[in-house]
Amino acid sequence: MSYKHLLYLVLSTTIFSCKSINIKEKEPPLAKNVILLIGDGTGLSQISSAFYFKKTPTNYKRFKHIGLIKTSSIRKDITDSAAGATSFSAGIKTYNKAIGVADDSTHVQNIVEIASLQKIKTGVISTSSIQHATPASFYAHVINRNLYEDISKDMVSSEIDFFAGGGTDFFNKRKDSKNLLAELKIKGFEIDTTSLGSFSDIKANSKMGYLLANNHMKSINNGRGDFLPKATELGLQFLSKDTNNPNFFVMIEGSQIDWGGHANDAKYVISELIDFDDAIGKALDFAEKDGNTLVIVTGDHETGGFTLSSNTEKKQKGKSGKEYSQLMGTFSTKGHSATLIPVFAYGPGAEKFAGIYENTEIFYKILEATKWDKSK
Ligand code: MG
Ligand code: ZN
Repeated sequence: MSYKHLLYLVLSTTIFSCKSINIKEKEPPLAKNVILLIGDGTGLSQISSAFYFKKTPTNYKRFKHIGLIKTSSIRKDITDSAAGATSFSAGIKTYNKAIGVADDSTHVQNIVEIASLQKIKTGVISTSSIQHATPASFYAHVINRNLYEDISKDMVSSEIDFFAGGGTDFFNKRKDSKNLLAELKIKGFEIDTTSLGSFSDIKANSKMGYLLANNHMKSINNGRGDFLPKATELGLQFLSKDTNNPNFFVMIEGSQIDWGGHANDAKYVISELIDFDDAIGKALDFAEKDGNTLVIVTGDHETGGFTLSSNTEKKQKGKSGKEYSQLMGTFSTKGHSATLIPVFAYGPGAEKFAGIYENTEIFYKILEATKWDKSK
């Protein structure tokens, strides 16, 4: 063997042995729990308001992996909340007003159904009625978001283990005069229509539902209090309570950030955003302690064309201009907008959420991070 050949042999052995070490490297850990927080109508300016108006540090600062999504629905540049949430829950683009159905109105498998196939517990929490477009897209399949009574039936037949929000009337004051609260109880639910309990009160129940308003929950400015962060904390405790089956998927929505945008009411937007930020804090606190939980925070679309600008005029030395020390929210529309929406992720698989991609990718990235099997 020549010197050249020997060198080649030594080099190639070294390279191959390095390679074999690489192959043996451990796979990154899978996410065992997923908390998906959706700020309805929450774009970058809504988020930015927490940095200027929240008295305590914003929880958005705790994320290191950040991406952007394009939110258009199948034929419209601007999505509504139904098509937007169905993109997250089922990984498809569909038409505005569609809940858990494709463009041809056929039912699509959602993430709650997929999680349930792996015996993983599931929950939905919102500050609207629990039948409103965003939460409904995670357990219902209807051709139009306004079919609240049909959506309520789908809650009964779903595998959901925990829910909290408004919407009692769609269960028990119905055109078909059925009492779906009784049917929920048959399915193992304990239903509380008075207030959020403490964990020790509900620990022994197999399923738990809170319905704390006939339709939507109040706004923060009208006295909702700490319902959303508290329901988040309680939901996470409830869904993870069984030591032999502690894993879960939960969707938590700050529903009314969107409504503040539609009303072009900056105080409404900012107070709801700050409340949502508190719920994010509860999710991150849980995930930090747990170590196996993936937290994703995003929005379905932006509402109001909201900007943090100043409209106050100042006059100095005879010249007039804007007063840059007096920040206020201004709006460009009473509807939604098409601006890209930020995505924040924490925990196992969080790095997958960096980049710029379609809203439907959130669904596939969750499946990739958890390895939940669609066909199990
Ligand atoms: Mg919503
Ligand atoms: Zn809206």
